[in-house]
Formats: sequence, structure tokens, C-alpha cells
Amino acid sequence: MRGLVLRSLEYGLAGKADAVEFHGTTPCPVEYKRGRPKNHRADEVQLCAQALCLEEMFGVPVLEGALFYGVTRKRILVVFDTELRGLTVQMAAACRKMIAFGKTPPPQAKPACQRCSLAETCSPTRLEKPPSVQNWLLSQIGSASEQPLM
Ligand code: SF4
Repeated sequence: MRGLVLRSLEYGLAGKADAVEFHGTTPCPVEYKRGRPKNHRADEVQLCAQALCLEEMFGVPVLEGALFYGVTRKRILVVFDTELRGLTVQMAAACRKMIAFGKTPPPQAKPACQRCSLAETCSPTRLEKPPSVQNWLLSQIGSASEQPLM
């Protein structure tokens, strides 16, 4: 199934899976990434969060999933072990806390932003270097002075 809407009431998670394969009655999340494997665990945590949702939605244990990377054209098996589950639950709680306090970390513009599906909403360069008020005022004065007088 593609684009399956996911949610976990227990962990306060919501999202949409790229794909969920069913091996018999057991769902297996598969996440597609345009790039290559990274030197951090964010992709595994995202996949594990999907597994937690699927477990709650279907009432079955979800023991593994897969990440497919476009650059390497390789599918990597991810086992949802105790450590990854713990990290995922910890990250979900931290995110919910940030949302509750209305304070999220500022974006850091990086090459990966060009391929990020959230780039338009996130606007990392704009938020990193907000346009100065002085320049904005000058531009407004400039455009106002070009208007014909009534
Ligand atoms: S566009 Fe925003 S969310 Fe996407 S990678 Fe860049 S900083 Fe992160």
C-alpha cells in the first residue's frame, strides 16, 4: 500500500508511509530516500516511528522494515530492536515537548535542503538570514516614491 496514513495515539505520532508491504498479515514499512545512507539514525527513527504506528493500528508486532536509497539503489533492512525503539520513543517525546512549548530549533540550511520535501514550508535560508527590517523599509519607501501622486 502506498501513502498509508499512520497514527499512534500512545506516542502521539501521525504521518504517511511511502509504502507498507504486507507479509501475510504483518505490515512492513518501506521508506524511500533520494540520497544515500547517512551517518546518523534519523531515517531509522522515522521508519521505527512508522512501525510503532502500524503495531498500534493493526495490533501485531512489526519487527522490521526497509530503507531504500536512490543514490545507492540499495534496500537496507532495519530491525526494530529495543535500542532503536527506545531512541524513537525518546525522540517522539522530545518533539512533542518542543511543540507544546511552541519552540522548535531553527533550521540549518545545508545541501540536503534542496531535496527536502519540507523545503518550501521550512524556508531554511530565510529563517537563518531573515531580511533586515531596514532593507524592507527602504524597499517599501522606494516603491511608494515610484507611485504617481494623486
Ligand atoms: S529544508 Fe528544513 S526540514 Fe528540510 S532538511 Fe533543510 S532544514 Fe531540515
